[in-house]
Amino acid sequence: MTAAEADWTEAVRLLSSHDDVTLVCHVGPDGDALGSMLALGIALRDKGVAVRASWGSRPFEVPAAYAALPGLDLLVEAAEVPAAPALLVTFDTGSVDRLGVLADRVGTADAVLVIDHHTTNTRFGTVNLVDERAAATAVIVVELLDRMGLPLTAEIAAPVYTGLITDTGSFKYAATTPSVHELAARLLATGIRHDVISRDIWDTAPFAYVGLLGSVCSRAELDSDAVNGLGLVWSTVTAEDLQLHGLALSDVEGVIDVLRTSREAEVAAVLKTDPEDGLIKVSIRSKGQIDVGALCSSLGGGGHRFAAGFTSADPCEVTVSRLREALATAPHLPA
Ligand code: 5GP
Ligand code: MN
Repeated sequence: MTAAEADWTEAVRLLSSHDDVTLVCHVGPDGDALGSMLALGIALRDKGVAVRASWGSRPFEVPAAYAALPGLDLLVEAAEVPAAPALLVTFDTGSVDRLGVLADRVGTADAVLVIDHHTTNTRFGTVNLVDERAAATAVIVVELLDRMGLPLTAEIAAPVYTGLITDTGSFKYAATTPSVHELAARLLATGIRHDVISRDIWDTAPFAYVGLLGSVCSRAELDSDAVNGLGLVWSTVTAEDLQLHGLALSDVEGVIDVLRTSREAEVAAVLKTDPEDGLIKVSIRSKGQIDVGALCSSLGGGGHRFAAGFTSADPCEVTVSRLREALATAPHLPA
């Protein structure tokens, strides 16, 4: 479903009638969550609005891949987010629980604008700008800026480009439409260093990551019988792995992209233990025959059709068997 015209009108009205706006994105922000939030934040600040941006997970650190983005000075720790914001805008967040320790602000804010593209979005805002067909939340933000008559400066284009390439896998995924490329052309025309942005996201990691990848990949398992014979490849990133290699959870986002190259498996999964809370964050990808977004919803998580996740309080073995069970009965999508 795309957003209705009335939602756009309401969203523009909300943003135009507030001179103080609080922005939040999902816990453990990725390039689209952070990029879409910073883009709107910069645009609002440029127009004289008091803006702050945050997310509700610890440690409150900008992942290294995004450390050179403009607008990071808008960020405040979760504890500094007003207890009852006048206008709260959420980015790339499919459900309230994904706001972590900031989830309560949805109830205390006077108005909540939800900007998102998750198929599993629960429409928890007073106004919901949700477009499941948008390749990234950042795409919706650009349309919003256009409708508000705000300029797309190079400072804004950089975080938008970050969201766009994160969620399209650098223009490789099915969500990459002609309009995605047209938007990319618009962004490049502002003079952004797209080469540097891409390198920071895809081609830069601490040397320790190579070592961690070695361990994680060497214990990966291929289960050809799983998913009704379509195959599952999976591995784990333990708290010990992270400690041994001196890495954070945000450093290992790319592990799933290595595992999912396995030709023999339709579905890939990485079970990552969060050293902060001991919970297992499960990342799942499919190649087009299984709706892993729906699958993860049934396991308490959410996401997109071919990229999704859930969080598990169970031990690793229990989590894997719950996943296997759900995959065994998952309906196959038409080819
Ligand atoms: P990733 O595997 O890159 O962390 O996440 C892939 C997609 O699944 C993202 O759109 C993300 O928002 C969603 N996702 C990942 N983990 C969770 C989770 O624990 N709960 C929910 N609701 N969505 C998740
Ligand atoms: Mn997204």
